[in-house]
Amino acid sequence: MSEAEATAADAPSNFIRDIVRDDLASGRVASIVTRFPPEPNGYLHIGHAKSICLNFGLAKEFDGRCNLRFDDTNPAKEEQEYIDAIMEDVRWLGFDWGEHLHHASDYFVQLYDWAEHLINEGKAYVEELTAEEMREYRGTLTEPGKNSPHRDRPVEENLELFRQMRAGAFKEGERALRAKIDMASGNINLRDPVLYRIVHAPHPRTGDAWCIYPTYDFAHGQSDAIEGVTHSVCTLEFADHRPLYDWFIDNLPVPARPRQYEFSRLNLTHTILSKRALVQLVEEGHVTGWDDPRMPTISGLRRRGFPAAAIREFCARIGVTKQENVIETALLEFCVRELLNEQAPRRMAVLNPIRVVIENYPEGKAEQLEAINNPGDESAGTREVPFSRELYIERDDFMEDPPKKFFRLAPGREVRLRYAYFITCNEVVKDKAGEVVELRCTYDPETRGGNAPDGRKVKATLHWVSAAHAIPAEIRLYEPLFREETPDISEGLARAINPDSLKVLSDCRLEPSLADAPAGKTVQFERLGYFCPDAGSREGNHIFNRVVALRDSWAKLKARG
Ligand code: ATP
Ligand code: MG
Repeated sequence: MSEAEATAADAPSNFIRDIVRDDLASGRVASIVTRFPPEPNGYLHIGHAKSICLNFGLAKEFDGRCNLRFDDTNPAKEEQEYIDAIMEDVRWLGFDWGEHLHHASDYFVQLYDWAEHLINEGKAYVEELTAEEMREYRGTLTEPGKNSPHRDRPVEENLELFRQMRAGAFKEGERALRAKIDMASGNINLRDPVLYRIVHAPHPRTGDAWCIYPTYDFAHGQSDAIEGVTHSVCTLEFADHRPLYDWFIDNLPVPARPRQYEFSRLNLTHTILSKRALVQLVEEGHVTGWDDPRMPTISGLRRRGFPAAAIREFCARIGVTKQENVIETALLEFCVRELLNEQAPRRMAVLNPIRVVIENYPEGKAEQLEAINNPGDESAGTREVPFSRELYIERDDFMEDPPKKFFRLAPGREVRLRYAYFITCNEVVKDKAGEVVELRCTYDPETRGGNAPDGRKVKATLHWVSAAHAIPAEIRLYEPLFREETPDISEGLARAINPDSLKVLSDCRLEPSLADAPAGKTVQFERLGYFCPDAGSREGNHIFNRVVALRDSWAKLKARG
């Protein structure tokens, strides 16, 4: 068995992969071509990642190719910013379309000619009914539609009117080109679908060349055919469009016969995967932008610190089926945690500091202690962290009057400072309001490195930073953007949003090795979770995003109700 065969056999299968494999084995296709066809009307989200991994993944596995094709047929909603962001996101996810960057707009001339072809064949006509009237004529799921009064125009008149449409003789909505199929069809998509509509808007790529634009249905399959796409994979809502997809392929002189296959789209708990809703989140200011770390967008996940490899792993684990389902966000976070546990260097940071003074440690002295970068990966090596008389520990790691199960620092108690010494708390200093502001402690110089030569044990090991050496930082903690598992946004986004989705801690302290942590390079803060330096950090203003907590604290919270 060749190496390629071995990996093909090992990869988890799915029904689309099985179809591709059978088509190659039977010789129905000589090699496969897939495509990822985003409409540039928003940023990509994690649902798109599923489609990207599937389409590019199949091409890679079976030595075919995957095109990136912008489905840019609606200039009213599409923008260059989105086109650029989509390319950046696909690349970041680890995929490469090589020379095969295409646009439906590349085919506008060909599609136009094919529209005239249908007119000439008596299979398309120019409509004058308004959109509203067309809806009335279309019928319903249970009642057939009725023919438009314009359905039987002579070919010559249709051609003339269509050319006038193209020349700009009409306002938006005054005319449309429709296929002449069957107004009584059980499939509403076949009731004389619109092929061209008038849109007086400049197009990001074709400028003012056109004022009529093909619909998704008229553009998609033909674009596939032009590009030699063999397997046109899309989500289930297009299953009812497949007969129309095939009708165009059957009735036009296309150069190839692509086939469409549908799978169920990804739904995730506590978020929404619909560009329309995501545009609204951005435009109504519920988030700071498309790349807000709470967004399910690829750019948001990237800024939050989710590794591309973890997203690919997630997509592999959820599989590809025709069943509608909702995947737990916890699974995505699990994949992130699993990967970061292997890869992220360990560092120490204190989110909510309380000052500790080591009374028997000399003033002005500092020493460097050795800390392990990754206990699971010896090759990651060690680093030095400074220790001195004044430190910060986590406020939560101290209790003046601890309940039974609290093993961390308390008056009279000894604990270990990680990589450093055993310390004992002797005195608690409070401010006028009675709040603890400082802990007076002593250390045992014999315990350097964190072990007592006499073998005595302590029940807790705390993280810490040296006060004089620490870097102040802002740390942002995230919770799901939506309160409900399946958000109901029918009464507006504001009512569905989790008001506690962002918590900003502005008085955090980091160990000095984090001074020049590059944006996007995630680390583990010991005992706290994984944190990613934010792209908005500047010199002297360090911002870290929490990627995920060490364990799934959200699930725990929920379980407690
Ligand atoms: P949205 O509903 O979010 O606006 P869309 O389907 O209109 O998404 P497109 O830009 O047309 O967005 O999508 C490009 C490709 O990604 C399509 O093939 C589409 O089927 C697929 N896709 C979109 N959303 C999902 C999802 N949640 N899960 C899997 N694939 C998806
Ligand atoms: Mg779409």
